[in-house]
Amino acid sequence: MDYHVIVIGGGASGLACALTLVSARNRGWEWAENCKYALFDTEGSDLNRALLKNVPGLDPVEGREILKKIRRQIEEWGGVDFLQEQVTRIEKRDGVYAVESASGRTFFAPYVVLASGFHAFQIEGLQVEVVENPKSPKPGRVMIKHRDYEVDTNLFVVGTLAGLSSHFTSCAGSGVEVAVEILSRLAGKRVVIHDVPQKG
Ligand SMILES: Cc1cc2nc3c(=O)[nH]c(=O)nc-3n(C[C@H](O)[C@H](O)[C@H](O)COP(=O)(O)OP(=O)(O)OC[C@H]3O[C@@H](n4cnc5c(N)ncnc54)[C@H](O)[C@@H]3O)c2cc1C
Repeated sequence: MDYHVIVIGGGASGLACALTLVSARNRGWEWAENCKYALFDTEGSDLNRALLKNVPGLDPVEGREILKKIRRQIEEWGGVDFLQEQVTRIEKRDGVYAVESASGRTFFAPYVVLASGFHAFQIEGLQVEVVENPKSPKPGRVMIKHRDYEVDTNLFVVGTLAGLSSHFTSCAGSGVEVAVEILSRLAGKRVVIHDVPQKG
């Protein structure tokens, strides 16, 4: 096994998922300390074109600044390999996912999160149901059918590809939901990750 979790897509939902996963580190939780994560991205997030004036609690901000900021937050925690590669194929082999990239390399993980956006789904090898995305006003947008974000055992879908409305907060929120679910499975009990300000 190369990684515990592989996230495919480094936009709103994928980065939020990766950030929540790594934020379980440095808390004295033995099960979390040595977890390794990979995030594949082709750098085509819709956030690159957005000016966000409706993110609760944030002053207007360009989407590309949010992308940079979340990547920095992830790097501060450590534990994620950023791979600037397109994922082309995923196969389930004996309960583990084999994730193949355009360079021909294959990586293995027990958990995979699909966060590749709603423009198309061109990853081969999976038995997933890709349908028209009902939340998009534009035709041709797709989503993958799921139950509570799970498509197959330990295979999740988040963001616009999960059929959420195309807004930063809802897509990021789905990435957080799925990360907490995966962390809870890794821990063998329900997990929440909260921090409090230092006193004094
Ligand atoms: C012009 C514009 C304005 C917007 N304005 C707002 C706004 O004001 N407020 C708001 O809340 N939202 C706004 N949005 C919407 C917001 O940007 C999206 O809802 C959000 O980015 C969707 O997140 P996502 O994770 O589903 O997909 P994305 O953020 O699009 O990320 C998907 C990522 O997956 C990568 N990828 C795809 N296929 C693969 C593959 N096979 N292998 C590896 N990587 C892959 C892509 O390159 C991309 O980086 C706007 C969007 C646009 C286009």
